[in-house]
Amino acid sequence: MTRKRVAILGATGSIGTQTLDVIDRHRDRFEVFGLLAGSRPLDREARYTIRAADPDAEARVLEMVTHPDCDLVVTALPGARALAPTLAALRAGKVVGLATKEVLVMAGELVMAEAHHRLRPIDSEHSAIWQCLWGEQLDSVARLVLTASGGPFLDRALKDLGTVTPAEALRHPRWSMGPKVTIDSATLMNKGLELIEAHHLFGVPLDRIEVVVHPQSTVHSLVEFSDGSLKAQLGRPDMRLPIAVALAYPDRLPGVVEPLAAAELGTLQFLPLDQERFPAPGLARQAAAAGAPYPAVLNAANEEAVAAFLRGEIPLPGIVQVVESALSAYKGSGSTLEEVMEADRWARDYFHIAAGKVST
Ligand code: MG
Repeated sequence: MTRKRVAILGATGSIGTQTLDVIDRHRDRFEVFGLLAGSRPLDREARYTIRAADPDAEARVLEMVTHPDCDLVVTALPGARALAPTLAALRAGKVVGLATKEVLVMAGELVMAEAHHRLRPIDSEHSAIWQCLWGEQLDSVARLVLTASGGPFLDRALKDLGTVTPAEALRHPRWSMGPKVTIDSATLMNKGLELIEAHHLFGVPLDRIEVVVHPQSTVHSLVEFSDGSLKAQLGRPDMRLPIAVALAYPDRLPGVVEPLAAAELGTLQFLPLDQERFPAPGLARQAAAAGAPYPAVLNAANEEAVAAFLRGEIPLPGIVQVVESALSAYKGSGSTLEEVMEADRWARDYFHIAAGKVST
Protein backbone atom coordinates (compact mmCIF):
# COMPACT_ATOMS: atom_id res chain seq x y z
CA MET A 1 0.00 0.00 0.00
CA THR A 2 1.40 3.43 -0.86
CA ARG A 3 1.52 5.62 2.19
CA LYS A 4 -0.52 8.81 2.27
CA ARG A 5 1.65 11.89 2.72
CA VAL A 6 0.06 14.22 5.21
CA ALA A 7 0.66 17.93 5.84
CA ILE A 8 -0.53 19.29 9.19
CA LEU A 9 -1.39 22.96 9.66
CA GLY A 10 -1.21 23.58 13.39
CA ALA A 11 1.10 20.68 14.25
CA THR A 12 1.77 21.68 17.87
CA GLY A 13 -1.87 22.31 18.82
CA SER A 14 -4.28 19.83 20.36
CA ILE A 15 -5.58 18.36 17.07
CA GLY A 16 -2.11 18.53 15.46
CA THR A 17 -0.41 16.48 18.17
CA GLN A 18 -3.24 13.94 18.19
CA THR A 19 -2.98 13.67 14.38
CA LEU A 20 0.74 12.94 14.75
CA ASP A 21 -0.15 10.31 17.34
CA VAL A 22 -2.57 8.56 14.93
CA ILE A 23 0.02 8.73 12.10
CA ASP A 24 2.78 7.32 14.37
CA ARG A 25 0.61 4.32 15.22
CA HIS A 26 -0.10 3.65 11.54
CA ARG A 27 3.22 4.25 9.80
CA ASP A 28 2.32 1.55 7.26
CA ARG A 29 -0.40 3.87 5.94
CA PHE A 30 0.74 7.44 6.55
CA GLU A 31 3.83 9.58 6.57
CA VAL A 32 4.31 13.16 7.64
CA PHE A 33 4.98 15.33 4.59
CA GLY A 34 4.91 18.77 6.16
CA LEU A 35 4.30 20.62 9.39
CA LEU A 36 3.24 24.16 10.14
CA ALA A 37 3.91 24.75 13.82
CA GLY A 38 3.32 27.56 16.28
CA SER A 39 5.87 28.52 18.91
CA ARG A 40 5.69 25.35 21.02
CA PRO A 41 8.49 22.75 20.73
CA LEU A 42 8.23 20.25 17.88
CA ASP A 43 10.16 17.01 18.21
CA ARG A 44 10.43 16.13 14.53
CA GLU A 45 11.36 17.30 11.05
CA ALA A 46 9.52 16.77 7.79
CA ARG A 47 10.07 17.71 4.15
CA TYR A 48 8.49 21.01 5.05
CA THR A 49 8.89 22.18 8.62
CA ILE A 50 7.51 25.69 8.85
CA ARG A 51 7.22 27.94 11.88
CA ALA A 52 4.27 30.35 11.84
CA ALA A 53 6.66 33.17 12.79
CA ASP A 54 9.01 32.54 9.81
CA PRO A 55 9.01 35.59 7.50
CA ASP A 56 8.22 33.43 4.45
CA ALA A 57 5.74 31.16 6.29
CA GLU A 58 2.66 32.13 4.27
CA ALA A 59 4.28 31.43 0.88
CA ARG A 60 5.88 28.17 2.05
CA VAL A 61 2.59 26.91 3.50
CA LEU A 62 0.88 27.49 0.14
CA GLU A 63 3.76 25.68 -1.60
CA MET A 64 3.49 22.76 0.86
CA VAL A 65 -0.28 22.25 0.63
CA THR A 66 -0.29 22.40 -3.18
CA HIS A 67 2.86 20.27 -3.66
CA PRO A 68 2.32 17.30 -6.03
CA ASP A 69 3.74 14.91 -3.37
CA CYS A 70 1.26 15.98 -0.71
CA ASP A 71 -1.89 13.80 -0.57
CA LEU A 72 -3.82 15.05 2.42
CA VAL A 73 -3.88 18.27 4.45
CA VAL A 74 -5.12 18.45 8.03
CA THR A 75 -6.28 21.99 8.82
CA ALA A 76 -6.05 22.53 12.56
CA LEU A 77 -4.89 26.13 12.82
CA PRO A 78 -7.09 28.20 15.07
CA GLY A 79 -9.26 30.79 13.38
CA ALA A 80 -9.38 32.86 10.23
CA ARG A 81 -5.82 32.33 9.01
CA ALA A 82 -6.69 28.72 8.14
CA LEU A 83 -8.93 29.87 5.28
CA ALA A 84 -6.40 30.69 2.54
CA PRO A 85 -4.29 27.49 2.81
CA THR A 86 -7.44 25.32 3.03
CA LEU A 87 -8.86 26.86 -0.14
CA ALA A 88 -5.48 26.47 -1.88
CA ALA A 89 -5.25 22.77 -0.91
CA LEU A 90 -8.77 22.05 -2.16
CA ARG A 91 -8.10 23.91 -5.43
CA ALA A 92 -4.97 21.78 -5.90
CA GLY A 93 -7.11 18.62 -5.62
CA LYS A 94 -5.99 17.57 -2.13
CA VAL A 95 -8.09 15.76 0.44
CA VAL A 96 -8.56 18.07 3.44
CA GLY A 97 -9.34 16.96 6.99
CA LEU A 98 -10.89 20.09 8.46
CA ALA A 99 -10.69 20.75 12.19
CA THR A 100 -10.94 24.54 11.86
CA LYS A 101 -14.69 25.08 11.63
CA GLU A 102 -14.13 28.84 11.25
CA VAL A 103 -13.12 28.16 7.63
CA LEU A 104 -16.66 27.01 6.79
CA VAL A 105 -18.29 29.65 8.96
CA MET A 106 -16.44 32.46 7.20
CA ALA A 107 -16.61 31.25 3.64
CA GLY A 108 -18.79 28.15 3.43
CA GLU A 109 -20.00 28.77 -0.14
CA LEU A 110 -16.49 29.42 -1.47
CA VAL A 111 -14.98 26.41 0.27
CA MET A 112 -17.76 23.97 -0.67
CA ALA A 113 -17.54 25.08 -4.32
CA GLU A 114 -13.96 23.71 -4.29
CA ALA A 115 -14.55 20.70 -2.05
CA HIS A 116 -15.87 18.08 -4.54
CA HIS A 117 -16.27 15.46 -1.78
CA ARG A 118 -12.65 15.90 -0.72
CA LEU A 119 -13.45 17.77 2.49
CA ARG A 120 -13.68 15.55 5.59
CA PRO A 121 -14.78 16.89 8.97
CA ILE A 122 -12.56 16.62 12.06
CA ASP A 123 -15.18 17.87 14.46
CA SER A 124 -16.75 15.15 16.58
CA GLU A 125 -20.36 16.13 15.76
CA HIS A 126 -19.76 16.46 12.03
CA SER A 127 -17.72 13.30 11.89
CA ALA A 128 -20.65 11.56 13.60
CA ILE A 129 -23.14 12.92 11.05
CA TRP A 130 -20.80 12.06 8.18
CA GLN A 131 -20.50 8.47 9.45
CA CYS A 132 -24.30 8.22 9.86
CA LEU A 133 -24.66 9.34 6.22
CA TRP A 134 -22.33 6.76 4.68
CA GLY A 135 -24.39 4.72 2.23
CA GLU A 136 -27.43 7.00 2.61
CA GLN A 137 -29.07 9.36 0.14
CA LEU A 138 -29.02 13.03 1.10
CA ASP A 139 -32.61 13.56 -0.03
CA SER A 140 -33.80 11.11 2.62
CA VAL A 141 -32.32 13.21 5.43
CA ALA A 142 -35.08 14.89 7.44
CA ARG A 143 -33.00 16.53 10.17
CA LEU A 144 -29.52 16.74 11.64
CA VAL A 145 -29.29 16.78 15.42
CA LEU A 146 -26.09 18.22 16.88
CA THR A 147 -25.35 17.28 20.47
CA ALA A 148 -23.85 19.84 22.86
CA SER A 149 -22.31 18.92 26.20
CA GLY A 150 -23.47 22.26 27.62
CA GLY A 151 -19.95 23.03 28.84
CA PRO A 152 -18.94 23.78 32.42
CA PHE A 153 -21.75 26.28 33.14
CA LEU A 154 -24.82 24.24 32.27
CA ASP A 155 -26.09 24.45 35.86
CA ARG A 156 -24.47 27.70 37.05
CA ALA A 157 -26.92 30.43 38.18
CA LEU A 158 -27.36 32.88 35.29
CA LYS A 159 -26.53 35.87 37.50
CA ASP A 160 -23.16 34.31 38.41
CA LEU A 161 -21.91 33.87 34.83
CA GLY A 162 -20.48 37.41 34.87
CA THR A 163 -17.87 36.46 37.48
CA VAL A 164 -16.59 33.28 35.80
CA THR A 165 -12.77 33.33 35.46
CA PRO A 166 -10.82 32.19 32.37
CA ALA A 167 -9.38 29.29 34.41
CA GLU A 168 -12.90 28.04 35.26
CA ALA A 169 -14.08 28.40 31.67
CA LEU A 170 -11.03 26.48 30.40
CA ARG A 171 -11.99 23.44 32.51
CA HIS A 172 -14.28 21.57 30.11
CA PRO A 173 -16.11 18.67 31.78
CA ARG A 174 -15.73 16.18 28.88
CA TRP A 175 -13.31 17.19 26.18
CA SER A 176 -9.66 18.22 26.25
CA MET A 177 -9.25 20.87 23.51
CA GLY A 178 -7.43 24.09 22.63
CA PRO A 179 -8.36 27.31 24.52
CA LYS A 180 -10.43 28.95 21.73
CA VAL A 181 -12.80 26.01 21.23
CA THR A 182 -13.00 25.42 25.00
CA ILE A 183 -14.23 28.98 25.62
CA ASP A 184 -16.58 28.65 22.63
CA SER A 185 -17.93 25.51 24.30
CA ALA A 186 -18.58 27.42 27.53
CA THR A 187 -20.64 30.10 25.72
CA LEU A 188 -22.07 27.53 23.26
CA MET A 189 -20.85 29.77 20.43
CA ASN A 190 -19.07 26.56 19.40
CA LYS A 191 -22.48 25.02 18.72
CA GLY A 192 -23.50 28.13 16.78
CA LEU A 193 -20.41 27.81 14.60
CA GLU A 194 -21.12 24.09 14.22
CA LEU A 195 -24.68 24.78 13.01
CA ILE A 196 -23.22 26.86 10.17
CA GLU A 197 -20.49 24.27 9.58
CA ALA A 198 -23.07 21.46 9.29
CA HIS A 199 -25.27 23.53 6.99
CA HIS A 200 -22.43 23.96 4.50
CA LEU A 201 -20.83 20.51 4.84
CA PHE A 202 -24.02 18.52 4.34
CA GLY A 203 -26.13 21.02 2.37
CA VAL A 204 -29.01 20.80 4.87
CA PRO A 205 -31.05 23.99 5.49
CA LEU A 206 -30.52 25.62 8.90
CA ASP A 207 -34.13 25.12 9.95
CA ARG A 208 -33.57 21.37 9.68
CA ILE A 209 -30.54 21.37 11.98
CA GLU A 210 -31.26 21.14 15.70
CA VAL A 211 -29.17 21.38 18.84
CA VAL A 212 -29.82 19.14 21.83
CA VAL A 213 -27.93 19.28 25.12
CA HIS A 214 -26.37 15.93 25.99
CA PRO A 215 -24.11 16.31 29.04
CA GLN A 216 -22.44 12.87 28.75
CA SER A 217 -20.92 13.58 25.27
CA THR A 218 -21.29 9.91 24.36
CA VAL A 219 -23.67 10.37 21.44
CA HIS A 220 -21.65 12.61 19.12
CA SER A 221 -24.65 13.57 16.94
CA LEU A 222 -27.66 12.09 15.16
CA VAL A 223 -29.37 12.04 11.78
CA GLU A 224 -33.12 11.67 11.38
CA PHE A 225 -34.31 10.19 8.07
CA SER A 226 -37.57 10.71 6.20
CA ASP A 227 -38.95 7.33 7.32
CA GLY A 228 -38.60 8.34 10.99
CA SER A 229 -35.43 6.34 11.57
CA LEU A 230 -32.77 7.96 13.74
CA LYS A 231 -29.08 7.06 13.42
CA ALA A 232 -26.46 8.09 15.95
CA GLN A 233 -22.72 7.64 16.35
CA LEU A 234 -21.41 6.92 19.84
CA GLY A 235 -17.95 6.68 21.29
CA ARG A 236 -15.55 7.99 23.90
CA PRO A 237 -14.95 11.73 23.77
CA ASP A 238 -11.52 11.40 22.12
CA MET A 239 -10.63 13.47 19.04
CA ARG A 240 -8.29 10.74 17.73
CA LEU A 241 -11.42 8.95 16.51
CA PRO A 242 -12.67 11.69 14.13
CA ILE A 243 -9.04 12.31 13.10
CA ALA A 244 -8.55 8.63 12.22
CA VAL A 245 -11.86 8.51 10.33
CA ALA A 246 -10.84 11.55 8.25
CA LEU A 247 -7.35 10.20 7.52
CA ALA A 248 -8.32 6.64 6.62
CA TYR A 249 -11.77 6.98 4.97
CA PRO A 250 -13.28 4.69 3.74
CA ASP A 251 -11.22 2.34 5.91
CA ARG A 252 -11.35 2.16 9.69
CA LEU A 253 -8.09 1.98 11.62
CA PRO A 254 -7.84 -0.70 14.30
CA GLY A 255 -7.64 0.21 17.98
CA VAL A 256 -7.87 3.99 17.75
CA VAL A 257 -9.70 4.31 21.08
CA GLU A 258 -10.86 1.89 23.75
CA PRO A 259 -14.26 0.56 22.71
CA LEU A 260 -17.20 1.62 24.82
CA ALA A 261 -19.12 -1.35 26.23
CA ALA A 262 -22.90 -0.97 26.04
CA ALA A 263 -23.15 -1.72 29.76
CA GLU A 264 -20.85 1.28 30.44
CA LEU A 265 -23.19 3.74 28.74
CA GLY A 266 -25.33 4.21 31.84
CA THR A 267 -27.94 6.95 31.67
CA LEU A 268 -27.82 9.20 28.63
CA GLN A 269 -29.66 12.52 28.99
CA PHE A 270 -30.96 14.75 26.20
CA LEU A 271 -32.31 18.18 27.13
CA PRO A 272 -33.64 21.10 25.09
CA LEU A 273 -31.29 24.05 24.65
CA ASP A 274 -32.00 26.91 27.08
CA GLN A 275 -31.84 29.91 24.74
CA GLU A 276 -31.81 32.47 27.55
CA ARG A 277 -28.75 30.91 29.13
CA PHE A 278 -27.12 30.26 25.77
CA PRO A 279 -28.09 32.91 23.16
CA ALA A 280 -25.07 32.17 20.92
CA PRO A 281 -26.56 29.40 18.72
CA GLY A 282 -29.58 31.61 17.95
CA LEU A 283 -27.27 34.46 17.03
CA ALA A 284 -25.30 32.20 14.70
CA ARG A 285 -28.54 31.11 13.01
CA GLN A 286 -29.46 34.76 12.43
CA ALA A 287 -26.01 35.52 10.98
CA ALA A 288 -26.21 32.52 8.67
CA ALA A 289 -29.73 33.43 7.56
CA ALA A 290 -28.55 36.98 6.74
CA GLY A 291 -26.01 35.37 4.38
CA ALA A 292 -22.36 36.11 3.58
CA PRO A 293 -20.45 37.90 4.97
CA TYR A 294 -22.45 38.07 8.25
CA PRO A 295 -21.11 34.74 9.53
CA ALA A 296 -17.58 36.12 8.99
CA VAL A 297 -18.51 39.12 11.16
CA LEU A 298 -19.87 36.79 13.84
CA ASN A 299 -16.72 34.68 13.69
CA ALA A 300 -14.20 37.53 13.82
CA ALA A 301 -16.00 39.42 16.60
CA ASN A 302 -16.14 36.16 18.55
CA GLU A 303 -12.43 35.42 18.04
CA GLU A 304 -11.49 38.87 19.30
CA ALA A 305 -13.92 38.66 22.23
CA VAL A 306 -12.65 35.21 23.30
CA ALA A 307 -9.06 36.51 23.27
CA ALA A 308 -10.15 39.52 25.35
CA PHE A 309 -11.95 37.25 27.84
CA LEU A 310 -8.83 35.09 28.18
CA ARG A 311 -6.81 38.26 28.90
CA GLY A 312 -9.31 39.08 31.66
CA GLU A 313 -10.58 42.19 29.85
CA ILE A 314 -14.27 41.31 29.41
CA PRO A 315 -16.65 39.01 31.33
CA LEU A 316 -17.87 35.74 29.82
CA PRO A 317 -21.38 37.01 28.90
CA GLY A 318 -19.64 40.00 27.26
CA ILE A 319 -18.41 37.71 24.47
CA VAL A 320 -21.88 37.09 23.07
CA GLN A 321 -22.96 40.70 23.76
CA VAL A 322 -20.16 42.11 21.67
CA VAL A 323 -20.83 39.62 18.85
CA GLU A 324 -24.49 40.62 18.83
CA SER A 325 -23.64 44.30 18.75
CA ALA A 326 -21.13 43.76 15.88
CA LEU A 327 -23.80 41.92 13.86
CA SER A 328 -26.35 44.71 14.31
CA ALA A 329 -23.81 47.45 13.49
CA TYR A 330 -22.52 45.75 10.32
CA LYS A 331 -23.93 47.04 7.03
CA GLY A 332 -21.82 45.39 4.29
CA SER A 333 -22.51 42.56 1.86
CA GLY A 334 -20.73 40.18 -0.50
CA SER A 335 -19.35 36.64 -0.56
CA THR A 336 -16.06 36.80 -2.47
CA LEU A 337 -12.86 36.02 -0.56
CA GLU A 338 -11.95 39.72 -0.55
CA GLU A 339 -15.37 40.74 0.77
CA VAL A 340 -15.28 38.06 3.46
CA MET A 341 -11.79 39.13 4.57
CA GLU A 342 -12.91 42.77 4.57
CA ALA A 343 -15.88 41.88 6.83
CA ASP A 344 -13.48 39.97 9.07
CA ARG A 345 -11.24 43.05 9.40
CA TRP A 346 -14.24 45.31 9.99
CA ALA A 347 -15.46 43.13 12.87
CA ARG A 348 -12.01 43.06 14.53
CA ASP A 349 -11.76 46.86 14.35
CA TYR A 350 -15.33 47.16 15.60
CA PHE A 351 -14.54 44.90 18.52
CA HIS A 352 -11.80 47.16 19.79
CA ILE A 353 -14.24 50.09 19.90
CA ALA A 354 -17.12 48.09 21.41
CA ALA A 355 -15.05 46.13 23.96
CA GLY A 356 -14.60 49.23 26.11
CA LYS A 357 -18.38 49.39 26.57
CA VAL A 358 -18.82 45.86 27.96
CA SER A 359 -15.74 45.73 30.16
CA THR A 360 -17.27 47.55 33.13
MG1 MG B 1 -17.43 19.85 17.92
